[in-house]
Amino acid sequence: MNIFIMGAPGSGKGTFSSRIKEEFNLNHISTGDIFRENISKGTPLGLKAKEYTESGRLVPDEVTNAMVADYLKNLPDQKNGYLLDGYPRTLDQAKAFEEMTNGTDQAVNLILSMDVPTEVLTKRITGRRTCKNCGEIFNIYYKAPAQEGICDHCGSPLSQRKDDNEESLKTRLDEYFKNTAPVIAHYEDLGMVTHINADQEMDAIWPLIKEAIQ
Ligand code: ADP
Ligand code: ZN
Repeated sequence: MNIFIMGAPGSGKGTFSSRIKEEFNLNHISTGDIFRENISKGTPLGLKAKEYTESGRLVPDEVTNAMVADYLKNLPDQKNGYLLDGYPRTLDQAKAFEEMTNGTDQAVNLILSMDVPTEVLTKRITGRRTCKNCGEIFNIYYKAPAQEGICDHCGSPLSQRKDDNEESLKTRLDEYFKNTAPVIAHYEDLGMVTHINADQEMDAIWPLIKEAIQ
């Protein structure tokens, strides 16, 4: 099974991606995570991506497409397919991806759209805190850690993403509505999208996702 998980910033893609990849044994590819990792290591890719990601703009398509192509070529194949998180985010990325994978076993089968009203997103994003060590995601409003600033799972300090501030968020939302919403509409036309009401308790969302995949 090959899946795109799509949705606005703060829609829960990252949180549910970790559960999905475990449950269904998928390769998880998060373009945002890959950029952030390259930025913190100071690689050439990181240097190219830094100013875009931190201000909330999209990294140019050539850079992102090449990076995803590279990942797909080198996927370990003991898994049941992939879960692409954060890609494609523009119609040009979707076309490039289709040209590369159509007719192969890496073509996409299902698009999950995580639907959340825009007014809910801001609180989710500005309250988000993540553990760089184990990847656990917290929220100071909805899912606070037992001890402020410390990961419940592994005890490491929590941090806030550079782009999780109101100004970058505004840019990210603009990018989403201008560039990414049309990608969902494109797959909608192909009848490949399952919409998930992601504005509910986590425990209510998970069965919907499982059902869509099974
Ligand atoms: P979000 O939580 O906003 O969905 P991600 O962690 O997926 O964010 O991505 C963070 C940033 O990384 C984006 O704002 C953008 O700058 C860059 N990025 C991630 N995926 C892509 C992509 N497919 N195309 C261009 N830029 C991307
Ligand atoms: Zn942790």
